[in-house]
Amino acid sequence: MMYKILLMGPQGSGKGTQAEKLSVHLGIPAFGMGQLIRDEIATGSDFGKKLYDIILPGNLVSDEDAAHLLQLRLQKPDVERGYILDGYPRNLAQHAAFTFDTPTHVLVIDLSREESLKRLGGRLTCRGCGKVGAMSDGLKPGDHCPCGGEWYQRADDTPVAIERRLEIYEKDTAPVITKYGSLVRHIDGVGSVEEVFERILKVL
Ligand SMILES: [Zn+2]
Repeated sequence: MMYKILLMGPQGSGKGTQAEKLSVHLGIPAFGMGQLIRDEIATGSDFGKKLYDIILPGNLVSDEDAAHLLQLRLQKPDVERGYILDGYPRNLAQHAAFTFDTPTHVLVIDLSREESLKRLGGRLTCRGCGKVGAMSDGLKPGDHCPCGGEWYQRADDTPVAIERRLEIYEKDTAPVITKYGSLVRHIDGVGSVEEVFERILKVL
């Protein structure tokens, strides 16, 4: 059985965690575009250098470069039995550029806006070690992590920033999901990591 899985879902849906679990379970690699960019830069290739010059000042990699990166990755031998692609294509332009392979499954982890906000809005990050914690676990901004660093709320974890990212997901990614039609399986993202993982295994 070949698994070429696209994993989609809004911020807070836990798709990164699910991609890792699924990767171990199926014995196939999981990667997202950010990872592919970092890996290519680490090789020191000319293409990697070009990407580095783009992202260093905070610019986004073009849809063509992203597609080229993915095409290179899909030529590596470890994807022989499949792969899990985390969060790509995230808009119609990327979908149009993704011409060189066809997924077997498009899994969408659904989470309501309220639930995403609840999960992400209480997220704190340690300035010292970068660990992520939750206000629902009793942490407060300004408290100290065991490493001695201070817990704070990142600018992109404020409710306004989260709302904005959710709006972009709904506007840009929902049309991509529609494009994949009968390949799409929706998974309820409410519940524990294990519960959501069991649902994913059921639809594969
Ligand atoms: Zn810390």
